[in-house]
Amino acid sequence: MQLNYIANASLPSVSGKTIPVIDPSDGQVFDEIQRSNAHDIDTAVRSARECLELVWSRFNAAERGRLLMRLSAKVAEHAEELALLEQRDCGKPTKQARADAAALARYFEFYAGACDKLHGDTIPYLDGYSVMTWREPHGVTGHVIPWNYPMQIFGRSVGGALAAGNVCVVKPAEDACLSLIRVAQLAAEVGFPAGAINIVTGYGHEVGDALARHKGIDHISFTGSPAVGTLIQQAAAERHCPVTLELGGKSPQIVFADADLDAAIPAIINAIVQNAGQTCSAGSRLLVEQAIYEPLLQRLGHAFENLRVGPAAMDLDVGPLIRQSQQQRVWDFLSDAQVANIAMVAQGQIVDEAPDTGFYQAPTLLRDVPATHRLAQEEVFGPVLCAMSFKDENHAVELANATQFGLVAGIWTRDGARQFRMARRVKSGQVFINNYGAGGGVELPFGGVKSSGYGREKGFEALYGFTTLKTVAVRHG
Ligand code: NAD
Repeated sequence: MQLNYIANASLPSVSGKTIPVIDPSDGQVFDEIQRSNAHDIDTAVRSARECLELVWSRFNAAERGRLLMRLSAKVAEHAEELALLEQRDCGKPTKQARADAAALARYFEFYAGACDKLHGDTIPYLDGYSVMTWREPHGVTGHVIPWNYPMQIFGRSVGGALAAGNVCVVKPAEDACLSLIRVAQLAAEVGFPAGAINIVTGYGHEVGDALARHKGIDHISFTGSPAVGTLIQQAAAERHCPVTLELGGKSPQIVFADADLDAAIPAIINAIVQNAGQTCSAGSRLLVEQAIYEPLLQRLGHAFENLRVGPAAMDLDVGPLIRQSQQQRVWDFLSDAQVANIAMVAQGQIVDEAPDTGFYQAPTLLRDVPATHRLAQEEVFGPVLCAMSFKDENHAVELANATQFGLVAGIWTRDGARQFRMARRVKSGQVFINNYGAGGGVELPFGGVKSSGYGREKGFEALYGFTTLKTVAVRHG
């Protein structure tokens, strides 16, 4: 049984209740986590506050950096163990699980190096005055983490917060807690003081809500659905608590007729099948210039037919979805497609070794999806790619911007002037030209516009969000 991790100690919830942990590859229960409540959150927040005031605030930036660097090395040392935990808990194929563990180590490494580079400004002012700005931590930061990339999102969010001098209370998703509990234990082993990193597991409406409402939380970082993002903002607004939100997307891959299709096709496929499509930045809408619409769909169709889906440990192209309700959600979208006579170009194959009790979905390529249909508007969060054609650049921009979201856009063209025009006109937090997020992008600021959220995590930019600016004006002569 997994326990909460508060003040460097493993503790059961005061509720005495647990939640079963299910392996998405076979649908079987293999562990249990604590079903915590508001009392557990209160204990964690008090521990964090005590740590902040008595210990953590005395660590200077270089010392925080050294500790984060030790944690990065420790994660790298335990990468295989963490990858296997994440694989079983989330159904990630081995390559993806290993990539996530490596990304976690890299986040800590990046933020280790960033700690003592975060400077304020001096500002010219009236004669006889010196004015400066200081970047100060918020204090105790709350982190509500989703189930799709627990380690990666922990790395970018908690890594940045600690680097900036905060202490953290983390609420992982009820479907994916195991790796984060282990990372918190590893952090204690390398010397993070008791209370710097606290993990409290449980349901969102219970323990997530309690975290968002707790008066001792000074900033909230949330990654998840737009609906819960709204609830978090409402709870935080009651006490004017700042929030960073990353709420997903319906990201377009925009392919012009002059694109290098040999480079584009593998990136387009990866962007929708990675993590079984359960990725906030999934390239889930394919916008193709009319002249190459049919040939591109034909090539993609062949590629989709060859995609294989199966148990995470088989390390195929695609693993299972996280849980039965997510599988049902994808099925509902696909049955809506049938009702609307949206044509399927191709589907991948679920291998015979996949147990019937697992949560599998074959990658699916749909064509001529009307821009207003919910398949073109809402996050499916499954391996479903919706293709539509455009006639010219203006039409491409219109379609690209025609959803409530604005997280990522992929643009594929060899025309340099068009690359810049499109990058300016697409409403999106990130634009990738002739690539789609290669290399993990730990260093690159990441976040959305419109209903994809606000604030930035990843990169150095995250440190601004995890600090508050104090202006100090001194009259001296
Ligand atoms: P969710 O938003 O419900 O869950 C995300 C996190 O929020 C989890 O830790 C959850 O426990 C917590 N939470 C839930 N209700 C809460 C509440 N009332 N107060 C505070 N915290 C709460 O997401 P989900 O139900 O797991 O997935 C539903 C949809 O959300 C998905 O289909 C997908 O579209 C989207 N999603 C997006 C991302 C992303 O990276 N942007 C990640 C996960 C899910």
